[in-house]
Amino acid sequence: MRGEPMEPLKVDIADILGERATQIEVDAFVDPGVLVSGDTTFTSAAPAHVVGHIINAGDGVILTGTVTARLITDCSRCLESFELELSSDVEGLYTTPDKAEELPDEQEWEPIGDGILDLSRAIESAIRLELPFAPLHAKECAGICTRCGANLNEGTCACPEETPEGGPFAALKGMFSESDVESHE
Ligand SMILES: [Zn+2]
Ligand SMILES: [Zn+2]
Repeated sequence: MRGEPMEPLKVDIADILGERATQIEVDAFVDPGVLVSGDTTFTSAAPAHVVGHIINAGDGVILTGTVTARLITDCSRCLESFELELSSDVEGLYTTPDKAEELPDEQEWEPIGDGILDLSRAIESAIRLELPFAPLHAKECAGICTRCGANLNEGTCACPEETPEGGPFAALKGMFSESDVESHE
């Protein structure tokens, strides 16, 4: 599952196509839509902000920049939804199929087309790179009780404390009589 496709972010690069080393500044907002990664869904809380530039590098044009995004997701421990802010480096290479033949196989590229670039794929890839595998609303999130389901961030539940039989101190306990244990407290 990929969620909803991100809306296109089109940039006209006609001004730099004719001359190497010329560039266009990029400062734009785009809605990242709904991103699904593994079992986790990330919904946009606000348009993502992209800042960078597109340079004519001769054999193609290169997008470099940074994207910041605010996404709503569920905490993997307490299951409450929360807003996550992330930022990521954006990179994109746009060229023609004949020039792309000279690129290493692992180099991703997109067609330069008619001089209108759609930056959304590069931006979505950049955001996906930073999506946490198991999002946490706070590093110290206490999670939920596995027995009654209570949110332990809101206080302890009524479940009795776990007393596992045969734990690491079970043998030690047997070495003291009741009175010895009390005198150590
Ligand atoms: Zn949490
Ligand atoms: Zn409980």
